[in-house]
Amino acid sequence: MATIVRCSFCGKTYDMKDIKITAHHADATVFRTPCCNREADDRRWKHDYEIIEPDGTLIKNADGKVVGRWMGGRKVISIQP
Ligand SMILES: [Zn+2]
Repeated sequence: MATIVRCSFCGKTYDMKDIKITAHHADATVFRTPCCNREADDRRWKHDYEIIEPDGTLIKNADGKVVGRWMGGRKVISIQP
C-alpha cells in the first residue's frame, strides 16, 4: 500500500516507495527525496516529512480533544468552542 507523505523541504508530496535509500543506520533509514533530491531520514522527530492521512481522519490535540480533520491531503483545524 502506498504511503503518501508531504516533504518538509519543498512542500510537495511523494510516495515512500519512490524514495532512493542511501544508507541504513541502526535508528534510521536515510534517503533522497524524489521531489527535491534532499537528504532525509525516517526519524519522526526530525520531521523531514509528514505522513498524509486519508480524508476524514480526526486530528486530536495533546489532551485527546478533536480539533480538526484531514481533508484533501491537508490538516484542517477547526477548534470547536
Ligand atoms: Zn521535497
